[in-house]
Amino acid sequence: MPSPEAPYLRFLKGFVVSPDTGCWLWEGSTYQNGYGWLKVFGSVVSAHRFSYELHKGTIPDGLEILHSCDVKHCVNPDHLRAGSHAENMAEAAERGRMRSGADHPQFGKLQQRPKQAKPVRVLGKDYESIKAAERALGLGGGTVRYWLNHNPYRAQLIEKGR
Ligand SMILES: [Zn+2]
Repeated sequence: MPSPEAPYLRFLKGFVVSPDTGCWLWEGSTYQNGYGWLKVFGSVVSAHRFSYELHKGTIPDGLEILHSCDVKHCVNPDHLRAGSHAENMAEAAERGRMRSGADHPQFGKLQQRPKQAKPVRVLGKDYESIKAAERALGLGGGTVRYWLNHNPYRAQLIEKGR
């Protein structure tokens, strides 16, 4: 009897990389809610959670894995970060607002969020805001914020007037 392939090998064969977004698009089974899944040692696990644990380590208790790219079947660990359920819901609501807001005459005004305009140093270079850094470096939305919280050697806020 052939021995079953190791879960991570099946995982690595289970997606294609989108050249446009860098998303690793899961090609295996998906739940009705759009997230991918695979069987690992007899249990069904979410593909993006498996990817996170494979590349970044154990998911802290009670946390969900959030997609910075908003593609539910994406399993690129660079697009994934751990956050609370409340944070997940808030982000989903935020995206909903931004999408429906795009047709709205006040869209431009709503986009101005002064609390985001803090200067940041990312990978050794200074940018006027998180968004500016992400644009300049071609990073997915949320990546710099994730680094600020988890990888201070990659991204730091620049304190002014100190
Ligand atoms: Zn993605």
